Parts: sequence; C-alpha cells; structure tokens
Amino acid sequence: MVDAALPNDVLDVLIVGAGISGIDAACRFRELLPDVSIAVLERRERVGGTWDLFRYPGIRSDSDIFTLSFPFRPWRGERSLVDGDEIRDYLVDTVRERGVDRYIEFSTEVLGASWSSADQVWTVRTVVGPDRVERTRTARFVYFCSGYYSYAEPYTPDFPGVDDFAGTLVHPQHWPEDLDLAGKRVVVIGSGATAISLAPGAANAGAAVTILQRTPSYIFSVGRVDAVANVLRRVLPPATAHRVIRNKNIVRLWGLYAMARHFPAPTKQLIRRRATRLLGNQVVDDHFTPPYNPWDQRVCAIPDNDLYEDIREGRIAMVTDRIESFVPEGIRLASGRVLPADVVVTATGLTLQMLGGARLTVDGVPIDPGRTVIYQGALLSGVPNLAICVGYINSSWTLRADATARFVCRLVERMRRTGAGSVTPTLDGEVPADAPPMFGLAAGYIARSGHLLPRSTGAYPWTMTHNPLVDVRQADRSDLTEGLHYEPLRSVTPADPVESPSVAAPRS
Ligand SMILES: Cc1cc2nc3c(=O)[nH]c(=O)nc-3n(C[C@H](O)[C@H](O)[C@H](O)COP(=O)(O)OP(=O)(O)OC[C@H]3O[C@@H](n4cnc5c(N)ncnc54)[C@H](O)[C@@H]3O)c2cc1C
Repeated sequence: MVDAALPNDVLDVLIVGAGISGIDAACRFRELLPDVSIAVLERRERVGGTWDLFRYPGIRSDSDIFTLSFPFRPWRGERSLVDGDEIRDYLVDTVRERGVDRYIEFSTEVLGASWSSADQVWTVRTVVGPDRVERTRTARFVYFCSGYYSYAEPYTPDFPGVDDFAGTLVHPQHWPEDLDLAGKRVVVIGSGATAISLAPGAANAGAAVTILQRTPSYIFSVGRVDAVANVLRRVLPPATAHRVIRNKNIVRLWGLYAMARHFPAPTKQLIRRRATRLLGNQVVDDHFTPPYNPWDQRVCAIPDNDLYEDIREGRIAMVTDRIESFVPEGIRLASGRVLPADVVVTATGLTLQMLGGARLTVDGVPIDPGRTVIYQGALLSGVPNLAICVGYINSSWTLRADATARFVCRLVERMRRTGAGSVTPTLDGEVPADAPPMFGLAAGYIARSGHLLPRSTGAYPWTMTHNPLVDVRQADRSDLTEGLHYEPLRSVTPADPVESPSVAAPRS
C-alpha cells in the first residue's frame, strides 16, 4: 500500500488508542501483515486505556482473565478474576514482548479525520504533547480502538445540594492518589460493576461502607480461582492450555447468557438461591431483587461472594432508596433518613463517546456515527476504509476486539491483493428509521446516549451479534464482497499491484 505518488509518510493503517483493542490490533497486524506500515496514536502517556485510567481500590476484572487476555499471549497467573494492576502489567508486558511499543506515539490525540475519495486517503488531525502542537497524518485505513466512553467526563447526575456537602466527593474514574479511606464513612452511590468492586476495596482499606442504590442489580458469585483451568495448565503446554481454557470459558459464558435470555425465571431462582444462602431472604428481597430480567441490564460478577461476606459481617451496609439531596453531613434520602458520609463516591457510570470524540468527514460531508449502520460489528455504512472496535458487554471485551482486529487484517489484505484503494460498506436504500442502536442492552449510558451509536438492522452483515461463537468464525471466514463496494487504487497502475502474503487464520 505504500504509494510512490503520495508523500512517503502515508501510513497503510493508523490505529487510534493503545488500550486492549489497539494493542491487540497492533499485534495482529505485525503477526498477519508484517509489511503493512502501522502507527498507534495514543492520547495518554501510557498504554492500557481503561486498565490504566481506573485506580480505585478494588478495581478488578469481572470477566475471567483467560478470555480477557489475548489469545496469542497466555495468562500465567493462578487466579481467574484478577486485579486491575495485574491487567495493566500484562498489557505493558505484551506491548514490550511483542515489540509493538515502537509503533505507539504517546500524547497524541486524534481530533478528526477527513476522507478524500480523490486521493483515497484519510487526513487525520492530531494534537501532540502538553503544548498540543497540531500535526496532520495521512493513512489509507483508520482503525478506531478508542473505547466507548469519555475519559474526561464521567457521568454524574445533577444531585441537588451537592455543593453543600462538607465531605469529599469523588468519581471512580478520577480517583485521587492520596485519598485515605481508613476510618472514614464512605457512601458509594451505584449498583453496577464499579460500585460492587469498589465497596469491598474500600472496606479492605478500613472504611465503613454503605452502598446506596436506586435499583438493585443481578449479582452472580464466581470462583476467584478456576480449578479446572489450573489443572489444564499443569498438564498442557501454556499455549494449548490457554486455548482450551478460553474455549471452555467462551462456551460457559455464552451458555449462562443464553440461559438467562431464554429461561429468565430459573436463572433468577439460581441467582437468588446463591444470595439467600449467605444473606437470608429479607436482605435479598430488599436489595438484590431487580425489577427486570437477568441481562436486560448487565449482570455483575463478584469473586467468592466477597460482597455478600462483607455485608454479612457488617463491613458493608446496603441501602435501596432515592437521593433527595446532599446535605453538609451526607445524603438525605427520599425516606427522610440521612446517610452520614465523610466521602461520597459517585459510581454512577460513564458518558458514552464514539470515536474518542474525533469528528469524521467524507469528501467534506460530516459523518454522524449515529446515522450509520454497523457492518459486521466493525465498519460504518457509507464510510470508506475505516473500522471501529467495540467489544462485548455480555462477555469479555477482548473476544470481540480480537475477532474484529483479525477481520480488519483480512479486509486490508484483500484490498492489497486485489489492488483496491477503498472499501465502503454500502447499504441498499436508506438507514431504517426504527433501526435500534447496535447494543441491545439497557445500560444507563446507552439509555442516555444511544443516539450516538451506529444502528443495526438485525440482519447479517448489518448487525453486531454479541455472540463470540458466531463472531470468531465470521472474523476469519466471512464473505468480503457482500455489501462491500471496492474501488481500484487510483494512483498505482493496475499492472503494479502490491504483493502480500495471504492472511492465515490465526489460532484463537
Ligand atoms: C471500570 C471498568 C471495568 C471493566 N471491567 C471489564 C471486565 O471485567 N471485562 C471486560 O471484558 N470489560 C471490562 N470493561 C470494559 C473495558 O473498557 C474493556 O475491558 C477494555 O479495556 C476496552 O479496551 P479498549 O482498548 O477498547 O478501550 P479503552 O480501554 O477505553 O482504551 C482506549 C484508548 O484509546 C485512547 N483514545 C481514546 N480516544 C482517543 C483519541 N481521540 N486520540 C488518541 N487516543 C485516544 C484512550 O486514551 C485509551 O488509551 C470495564 C470497563 C470499565 C470502565
């Protein structure tokens, strides 16, 4: 794809973001298409994305690490649910071990990208370093691995009277390094994965913790250690064991999800039975019985019942109520009760953001991702030579991130092999007005900002399946002509196609 007619700094593939998805993409490009030129532009000064940003006490994975880690780099630790800093270290080590660190340009924020059909390139506007020096890059293909939420602005509802609160107010996304919780009364507002991992973390740090939730969530306890995985790791070589354990966990996770969707009543019973064993019926009725079915909203996992044990032993109190207002000494509830607090943690969620806030134009026309249709969970209708990485929210993010990276590699390889300069997902007719957002989950941030998300028609390939068993196959074998319009590379003569090895399906 290096084109003599264009300035020689035209990259073949520009990756935005060096979190799990961007690291996976860089590793896959190096492995599958080593002669394609790549760069990874990262706004921050470190790799890891989410796993570097979030530093609250208790931060950990709530999906198993064998599926959250990369298929090409076995996880070697003993536990299945692991702490945030272990994931961060794993990502840093992967980048170094795989030699992709030399492609990452830190402190480089992508502000926007403009596609020119005449030149068949993206012109990408960036700002670099603390002085935000403007720099333009050009690339044949842009792959956004920029995550799904705003790093700058976490979601905090407008709580009445919040300025009157005399204590410390923090959001888990911006955790102060020097915040000492020992001996403090800490109220954690929220009921999602962050609240239920942060509360035991704060209790371990010596705080008296209250979780204040408006609506209960489904919580499922899983073993911190996967005994079967550890046996497999003892008897099989590391790469084989990793593959077998991943496949086992993919099937298990998908089975649990499918069971919840098809048989909600027995799933509710199962979750409830496990909780009542430790907490008794009353606590479960009051605080752990959501008014919806499992997986209508995300089901949260806890390791070895840690939250339930903390509640049983009085280290964490549960309150299900509405906030009327903040008061100087804490929070006044709709029931009239005042919850005293030295520290209030607003684990109230994320602000959805597409494309890391970057703005796109195609031949001068602005693109609103919310008015496009997703193609195989990765491409946007009408937008040439661009992919986005969106992981799973009902399973480990990395499963889909890796499948998408492999799909993008196949697409780029096909373009090179056939001498194509552009590929555009082309939908027959208009975007259906009632096409839902590509995520079907009723998470708070999707309810608030679903209009920002690409749509899905529900019919392959204009959809996102949320099913790792299907996606992994499609990533390696889907028809790369269906719904895709290719244009020949204009500035290289057809007699001069760029040779490249075909992409072998990697072992996943
Ligand atoms: C608290 C929390 C816990 C989670 N737990 C789990 C879990 O247990 N299991 C699971 O599967 N998923 C979990 N997730 C989802 C999680 O986001 C994924 O695991 C994964 O880290 C996403 O990786 P990513 O690389 O796609 O995005 P991110 O981790 O968000 O990384 C995106 C990167 O892109 C960079 N970037 C963004 N915009 C720009 C721009 N314009 N220019 C340059 N760089 C840019 C960012 O700085 C960042 O480094 C969790 C999320 C949160 C918030």
